[in-house]
Amino acid sequence: MIVCKFGGTSVADGAAIARAAAIVAGKRDRQPVVVVSALGGATNDLLDVAQRAANGNLLVALSIVESLRQRHLTTTATLLDGSPERDDVEAEVSAGLDELAHLAEALSTLGFVTPRSLDSVAAIGELLSSRIVAAAFRHRGLDAEWVDARDVTITDDNFTRAAPDLPRIAAATRERLRPIVQAGRVPVVGGFVGATPSHITTTLGRGGSDYSASLLGAALEAEAIEIWTDVDGMLTADPRLIPTARLIDRIRFDEAAELAAFGAKVLHPSTIAPAVQRGIPVYVFNSRRPEGTGTMITFDAPRYPVRALAGKRDKTLVKLRSARMLLAHGFLGAVFAVFDRHRTSIDVVTTSEVSVSVTLDDASNLEAIVADLSAFGDVSVEQHRGLVAIVGAGLSDGAQTMAQALGALGDIKVHMASLSATGLNFTLVLDDAQVNPALQRLHATFFPEPA
Ligand code: ASP
Ligand code: MG
Repeated sequence: MIVCKFGGTSVADGAAIARAAAIVAGKRDRQPVVVVSALGGATNDLLDVAQRAANGNLLVALSIVESLRQRHLTTTATLLDGSPERDDVEAEVSAGLDELAHLAEALSTLGFVTPRSLDSVAAIGELLSSRIVAAAFRHRGLDAEWVDARDVTITDDNFTRAAPDLPRIAAATRERLRPIVQAGRVPVVGGFVGATPSHITTTLGRGGSDYSASLLGAALEAEAIEIWTDVDGMLTADPRLIPTARLIDRIRFDEAAELAAFGAKVLHPSTIAPAVQRGIPVYVFNSRRPEGTGTMITFDAPRYPVRALAGKRDKTLVKLRSARMLLAHGFLGAVFAVFDRHRTSIDVVTTSEVSVSVTLDDASNLEAIVADLSAFGDVSVEQHRGLVAIVGAGLSDGAQTMAQALGALGDIKVHMASLSATGLNFTLVLDDAQVNPALQRLHATFFPEPA
């Protein structure tokens, strides 16, 4: 059994859904379970409907409802042309959008949104897309069956970020999904959407369809999870900066997590953790180029000194110098408490006997942070800094990688450097303007063009 998850761009319209059907048809003998996102961008529109209705713009909200209706009906008509199911699916789509219009009216009377009402609205995207996809698959000869995500993805009631209830999901997938697969049929489930044990609709949080796929795959003990998206897989660097960036064939979960923290956007590792932790490989494939080999993410892919590079710009560097730090204990705890108090997370840290330097992702509370830190010593702030991260599980296996990295940088000034003791990443703080040149030099060194 495998789980094939199609993201919003892979089910954006009739043509995309037809491609997804062909991909699934080619995997029939592997017993696929299909998880789908809402039609690309639909979730944003749905949340917009809720906000605008609650803010008193009911007419605008209802016009968005109508454009969503048109889009879903056009997609249905394109896919189900000549299908005996077309009328039924169109009626279901219209009923879903009528319900949305009623919710919008209720929210406009209420004048505010609650997390629970937001989930009822947002869930409509996947509930509709999964119905359309199931019918489109059937029309293309796949024996597909729609399964209501709210019957299988059972969660707590932490609306808009609900936590999965693993034992209940395991029981529900056994009862609802396994028999369909065993009968040789293909279940189609909406991602992102869930329900409490008492059947109140919830969602797993934005981007939650990958999480659904991973949860259902783990519960079903699937052989693999396939995430079908609009990129070829994970690359050795951002291809917009490094046109020679290469596809990574295999990557370790912890390396993928580091890259995501540095802004790689393919998928959020926490959402695939339930599967990877159970030893289930997660693949990323491009639904526009299904012949590609993709990226395989596992716990124990081979160790390489350098697997990928990532960069981030527009960072603030804060330096604190204090003689009081010398031989004192508890000092760092007190310093970090300042950042905690101002809800600011730190990217990179270095310390010496008399100084601490950190970079901040978000400098919106900078003034207050500097004021509080000044109680400990001299504080200085440097803006326009950037980070370059060299990621690889085998980074410190040998002695040469660090020397190669610093050698490649040449005359680029390094303000700060941090080598994680876990050997996963070597992070350099540079001038903002040097991030791209540094990435280019490092990429040429660690991923040379084949001669
Ligand atoms: N449709 C949801 C979102 O846009 C979930 C997903 O696509 O993963 O956040
Ligand atoms: Mg996504």
